[in-house]
Amino acid sequence: MSKLDWLTQEIDGLKDQGLYNRIRTIGSAQGARLIVDGKDVLNFCSNNYLGLANHPKLIEAAKDATKKYGVGPAAVRTIAGTTNLHVELEKRLAKFKGAEDVITFQSGFTANLGTISALITKEDVIFSDRLNHASIIDGCRLSGGRIIPYDHNDPTALEAAIKENAGTYRRALIVTDGVFSMDGDIAPLPALYEVAKKYDILFMVDDAHGEGVLGKGGRGIVDHFDLHGKVDIEVGTMSKAFGVVGGMVAGNRVIIEWLRQRGRPFLFSSAVTAPDAAACLAAVDLLEESTALVDKLWDNAKYFKAEMKKLGFDTGVSETPITPIMLGEAPLAQQFSRELFENGVFAMSIGFPTVAKGKARIRVMISASHEKNDLDKGLEAFAKVGKKLGVI
Ligand SMILES: *Cc1c(COP(=O)(O)O)cnc(C)c1O
Repeated sequence: MSKLDWLTQEIDGLKDQGLYNRIRTIGSAQGARLIVDGKDVLNFCSNNYLGLANHPKLIEAAKDATKKYGVGPAAVRTIAGTTNLHVELEKRLAKFKGAEDVITFQSGFTANLGTISALITKEDVIFSDRLNHASIIDGCRLSGGRIIPYDHNDPTALEAAIKENAGTYRRALIVTDGVFSMDGDIAPLPALYEVAKKYDILFMVDDAHGEGVLGKGGRGIVDHFDLHGKVDIEVGTMSKAFGVVGGMVAGNRVIIEWLRQRGRPFLFSSAVTAPDAAACLAAVDLLEESTALVDKLWDNAKYFKAEMKKLGFDTGVSETPITPIMLGEAPLAQQFSRELFENGVFAMSIGFPTVAKGKARIRVMISASHEKNDLDKGLEAFAKVGKKLGVI
């Protein structure tokens, strides 16, 4: 017996259950097509919603910033790592989103970790949607606050949980994903806000999949529901629709000021590089110039989803370009993904623990970089594999 035997057993267990991640390798820039494990395939699973990850304007901005600032941050933000570009990006994002202020983090993940743990301590509670993203859950755990999960997207359940726990805590936070990343449904933010307002509780939304997707020209979920100034904290990411990398927190001025003092990933880990910040600024420029990419994304998503339904697939409860193809057991989802790949389509399967057991799926991510012809080729492959495996 070795002290590592348990790991080998756990890993074998994952393989037996069809839950072992086999990570594919990308050999090209992001776009409608990708070189995956050396093979040229249609790309149906990256979060590059607007096709910005390989946009000439973003590349040019990153190149120019590299020449001027070099490639490494060399220090954390609070010591010597805040460039003009970081400051400009935060100002531009605040203006774009109509928020009082913005702080950026290395990623959406660290934005959630840093924000929740800076606002909540062990005397406090967090009311958290049961299907919240792992980074919210980890942020809640890190804070030491008591976590009170409420039923998914259910403001009535939230209110009941608040009433039930009245008087048992000092301060509270309500936190929800904006767009739920595995199902593509949207949180009922206005109704959740009413509950937050009634009980005067801090209200936070993580809009990673809504940033650049929802709202006017991609201004996010707060804009989508016209809740400016009402949602205290809106977390977002620049690694999805923005096509670059980095997290952001938009919201109330004093909260952002506090996060600059006490957001631990901001204080103790170096920021995104100057070229990253420059590319993000170029993304904001593009989004402010025109809604064309956001409009194309939605047109593509509506077309693909409608055609998949016509073919007889179950696309779940999605209201956004995230299109889950519900398959049930993880081994079936894995097999489906492999067969798609053989037919020239790259779409990964997703199983436990990312989604509940028995709810495995292929998650298709539609983007503005797809042309109709790409979508039709994808649909053809789905139909072929779906019939072969008896799904439709
Ligand atoms: C992707 C995602 C994140 C993490 O964003 P990164 O910038 O990739 O770290 C956080 N929250 C939600 C809801 C997400 O979907």
